[in-house]
Amino acid sequence: MDLASVHRVHVRVEGIVQGVGFRPFVYALATGYDLAGFVGNDTAGVFVEAEGDAARLAAFVADLSRRAPTLAQVERLTTEAVPPTGRPGFVIVTSVTGAGREALISPDTATCADCLAEMSAPTDRRHGYPFTNCTNCGPRFTIVEDVPYDRRTTTMAEFALCSDCAAEYADPGDRRFHAEPVCCPACGPGLRFVDAAGDPLSGDPLGTAVRWLRDGLIVAVKGLGGYHLATRADHDRTVSTLRARKHREEKPFALMAADLRAARTLVDVAPAAEPVLTGVRRPVVLLPRRADAPVAASVAPGNRELGVMLPYTPLHHLLLARLGMPIVLTSGNVSDEPIAHRDGDARRRLARIADGFLTHDRRIHVRTDDSVVRVFRGRELPVRRSRGYVPAPLTLPWRFDRPVLACGAELKNTFCVAKGRRAFVSHHIGDLENYETLRAFTDGIAHFTRLFDVRPEIVAHDLHPEYLSTKYALQREDVELLGVQHHHAHIASCLADNADPGPVIGVAFDGLGYGPDGTLWGGELLAADLTGFERVGHLGAVPMPGGAAAVHEPWRMAAAYLDEIYGDAVPDLPVLLRHERHWPAVVGLARTGTNSPRTSSAGRLFDAVSAILGLHDRVTYEGQAAIALEQRADPDERGGYRVEAAGPVPLRDAGRGLVRCVVDDLLAKVDPSRIAARFHHGLADAVVRAAGAVRESTGLATVALSGGVFQNVLLLERVVGGLEQAGFRVLVHSRVPPNDGGISLGQAVVAAARAVPDG
Ligand SMILES: [Zn+2]
Ligand SMILES: [Zn+2]
Repeated sequence: MDLASVHRVHVRVEGIVQGVGFRPFVYALATGYDLAGFVGNDTAGVFVEAEGDAARLAAFVADLSRRAPTLAQVERLTTEAVPPTGRPGFVIVTSVTGAGREALISPDTATCADCLAEMSAPTDRRHGYPFTNCTNCGPRFTIVEDVPYDRRTTTMAEFALCSDCAAEYADPGDRRFHAEPVCCPACGPGLRFVDAAGDPLSGDPLGTAVRWLRDGLIVAVKGLGGYHLATRADHDRTVSTLRARKHREEKPFALMAADLRAARTLVDVAPAAEPVLTGVRRPVVLLPRRADAPVAASVAPGNRELGVMLPYTPLHHLLLARLGMPIVLTSGNVSDEPIAHRDGDARRRLARIADGFLTHDRRIHVRTDDSVVRVFRGRELPVRRSRGYVPAPLTLPWRFDRPVLACGAELKNTFCVAKGRRAFVSHHIGDLENYETLRAFTDGIAHFTRLFDVRPEIVAHDLHPEYLSTKYALQREDVELLGVQHHHAHIASCLADNADPGPVIGVAFDGLGYGPDGTLWGGELLAADLTGFERVGHLGAVPMPGGAAAVHEPWRMAAAYLDEIYGDAVPDLPVLLRHERHWPAVVGLARTGTNSPRTSSAGRLFDAVSAILGLHDRVTYEGQAAIALEQRADPDERGGYRVEAAGPVPLRDAGRGLVRCVVDDLLAKVDPSRIAARFHHGLADAVVRAAGAVRESTGLATVALSGGVFQNVLLLERVVGGLEQAGFRVLVHSRVPPNDGGISLGQAVVAAARAVPDG
């Protein structure tokens, strides 16, 4: 439209434009240009009407997206000429509720520099106040109960604004103008410290927490998305106590450091990792551990990396500044249960773990774990996408013609709701193995479908009949059900992550997924697009002796591989000697197939090699043996095994060939760290050559890499480098995890691509 010819314009802004200071920004902009009119929030986003001089009106509209607030993401801006009214002044009007919710909710955002400055200014009325926030920072998703985003639809509704805060909220010149969670010591939430019995302790709660932590006690700290368990990181006895009480044997704990400088005493922060660590989303970043890091061995046993995050709430900032040392800050739960987020539940579940509770009276509506990322080639490689990222949608270049709910997988579950061009991948739900997580899953779906007004017509699910997510899907009524093969979903999630519809050669390497042929897949080469796939190669299947027992005991996978290769002539390897007593029985299971499903899993191949090298015969958490193998690999080793990869079925003989090379080197007394590196390089080489063979037969020249095994950056770097050298275009993950946390997005885009358009 020609703005020069009109004097009043109606503007609609869509995207993340609520809870990010968009209305005050519009107000300031309009008054700056001397325009009359109004701005308001509704369920679709922000609406504006502006009237005045034509040239200034045009500049105003241009500035709306160009100069939008930091946290805003303008996805669409539409304008329409309307008749001038002649009414003077510019105002912010009340929010409008109604049908058809389209508004987006911002993720929770780390405390901004302005708020931090206020908190440290002795004369400021928010000096030392642990709930300081503004339009640019603070809680969002975790406190939102409904839309439109407004104080009365958040858990801040129960705190009535004091006159000072009300004045800031109403003052268009103030940086808290219409900041919904605004508060201060006079009117907002307050801290409390209670002991394990639930009795409040008098005195300064923060000071008590600092003292208890210094004394080596365990303190539960209420955060944004749930309770954490905190303890000092440099005391082995304290950290071991936390492990014992939490029933978490070896899985690494995350650390929080006061600032970048403090983080650098723990880990090497490469330039590419710095913005990830210090950015507003504040994930746990996995980084190389410094040799002299003042961190107890029990924090991350056997790991060359540490997971470090910086403070993201005012309370964290105050706590870490006063402590003057990094702390362990891990999810407040027992073992694999969901993180505790309601006060009563937290006290019940954490009373036997925590010595005391640093808590407050702002309710958490949605439990949200910390996000975890690695950094690969300057970009984030998500391991867990949750707090700080969710619920920002992925906007895709394709449409979901009919609303979709995708139920995800079993482990590391997320679900996804999608409509229009947007896919909302949920926060990390966890492993759907108990009532608590299943409840979080069903509650989460109800919350998301309401917040984003998605009434699913299609429900997508995994093919595994025993997954609780599949069972949930099959119980939904009046919807079209659509099963999506696990590894196809992995490749589709990588396509969606890269906004590329394919077709591609998909390499899906993971632990286990249900294959349509009755075996368990996990080392797959698929020629795939969004609608379908063809299995063009895979690792040769081997038995998993004892089924699930083989997942917990990698030495069983070693036995299976060695039996396939050597039969009765297995060389006298240490792994055989360690398990001499049970070996014949386990091999017997493998040979007869009794409770021994066959699998082409790459994860199980890593397990076998890890056990053969003596790293892990048993594991206490998923992926442990494979992680140990990556961690052990000698970074200076250049050699790699070369095994036959082509043949009629690309990759089929690669697994057995690699294990044979590992055994030869081990018998020749080569150091296990060099063998681990050569194994990685050899597998990468086999993948690259297998992709080459598939390119020959299909003409496809783009490769998508997905599945949990590609969290292994040593393998990933080697595969990507090799493929690029061979002239391939390579897609990797940067927005959703390659592991099963990304499955729901993949299911959603497959469902949309396959669905018959309605009517
Ligand atoms: Zn702020
Ligand atoms: Zn106040």
